[in-house]
Amino acid sequence: MLLDNVRVLKCVICDVEFKTTNNRAVTCSKKCSNKNYRDKQKAKKQSLEIDLPVENKTTTKPLIPIVNEVRELKANDKLLNIKEVCKMLDCSDRFIYDLVKNGLLKCIKLSERKKRFHINDINSYIKSQNK
Ligand SMILES: [Zn+2]
Repeated sequence: MLLDNVRVLKCVICDVEFKTTNNRAVTCSKKCSNKNYRDKQKAKKQSLEIDLPVENKTTTKPLIPIVNEVRELKANDKLLNIKEVCKMLDCSDRFIYDLVKNGLLKCIKLSERKKRFHINDINSYIKSQNK
């Protein structure tokens, strides 16, 4: 029974294989264990130092409007209404209106309450979210 629990693992520090009954063991010896701990502390400290600006950058990124200028329509352009966009993206009209409000999805205003969408703007939005 006990033998079943013995596993051969590779030390993360010196790459040497070692036998252990501890599932959580990652190092072969006390010496490697200490080094592993120090490396982790060092990495933790370094990541703390650079984390903040990086995190800020990624959280603010989606809020930046992707487009501002009004789209000029060409003769054959077909516009989508809100229902068609919802169906296309499989989401609620509330979600679409929020995207427009936050400047993430461009829409064409026929009047204050009538909004239409161009397929290229839908694609631009999808691309901006899947970089
Ligand atoms: Zn080792």
